[in-house]
Amino acid sequence: PAVVNKIAAGEVIERPASVVKEMLENSVDALATRIEVEVAAGGSELIRITDDGEGIHPDDALLTISSHATSKIRSAEDLFSVHTMGFRGEALASIAEVSQFSLRSRQAENPRGFELEVNGGQLSEPKPCGCPVGTTIEVRNLFCNTPVRRKFLKTPATEMGHITEQFTRIALANSRLHLSLRHNRKVIYDLPATEKMIDRLELFYGAELAEKLIWVESEQEGVRLWGYVAHPSQNKSTAKGQYLFLNGRWIQDRSLNHALREAYRGLLMVGRYPITFLFMEVPAESVDVNVHPTKSEVRFRDSQILYRQLLSTLRKKFLSVDL
Ligand code: ADP
Ligand code: MG
Repeated sequence: PAVVNKIAAGEVIERPASVVKEMLENSVDALATRIEVEVAAGGSELIRITDDGEGIHPDDALLTISSHATSKIRSAEDLFSVHTMGFRGEALASIAEVSQFSLRSRQAENPRGFELEVNGGQLSEPKPCGCPVGTTIEVRNLFCNTPVRRKFLKTPATEMGHITEQFTRIALANSRLHLSLRHNRKVIYDLPATEKMIDRLELFYGAELAEKLIWVESEQEGVRLWGYVAHPSQNKSTAKGQYLFLNGRWIQDRSLNHALREAYRGLLMVGRYPITFLFMEVPAESVDVNVHPTKSEVRFRDSQILYRQLLSTLRKKFLSVDL
């Protein structure tokens, strides 16, 4: 209970895309190498995610859907060094509460897996079943028992846009994962695993744009920075091409966005947004991810260090390339 109180409260599941985000993060935490996402009607009818990760032990079946039960941290202290995407143990419980939820899972050591169902909060006994190693979770009719929230869902196309964005963040940050996304049985993305991040960028942005990206990297005071950024002379522009990942997690940060703008200032045509695709790795102890329910805003122990490093790394690089 001590842990529970220190965890930022808040509504995690606001739309189908939130479900996709939480479930993808769980599959990543479970060390999956392959994840399939299947969605129908913008996620309002069906969201099914199948992974080949380490699975869940039958004894833990009920824990996965109890509020505040997580296998990922043990004490409040651990909150200061989070190494997994999840740590609140809140997501599956909230999802199961407002949908027709089913889960099947098997660990490699066990010949048989188990399945459990929750129907609008009503649990039926977990029972053994045959299934492949890994976990499949199906969420049907999201918000079926909260009609007002269901009514406020946008069109399938809009909801699908949000889902695609969540999928993209995970896909860009994990090029070693084989990932696929289908909507109404149509393949939207089928991304083969690759060691080379640039291959995956090419699938998202096209070869022409990927060719113009430049590699940057630096390390200062234990902070590692690396990734691809647009050549300042690029004439293509996209407002949706700025991605920043901190310790593998997609983040939004005003100060770091400002550093990016500063780095490109005077180099880009007015109104252009550079594509930036940057990773930062800092010691887990120096960042607090428990600030925002979706963990997309984080607090750094020393944000000035990151700001200066980002700005100076890009400036130095731009001085060395042909503009
Ligand atoms: P959290 O990720 O914060 O621990 P969740 O509610 O997202 O909380 O998940 C609860 C627990 O269920 C996890 O701690 C994990 O033990 C288990 N779990 C969920 N999804 C998977 C999965 N795809 N593979 C293996 N275990 C999973
Ligand atoms: Mg989780």
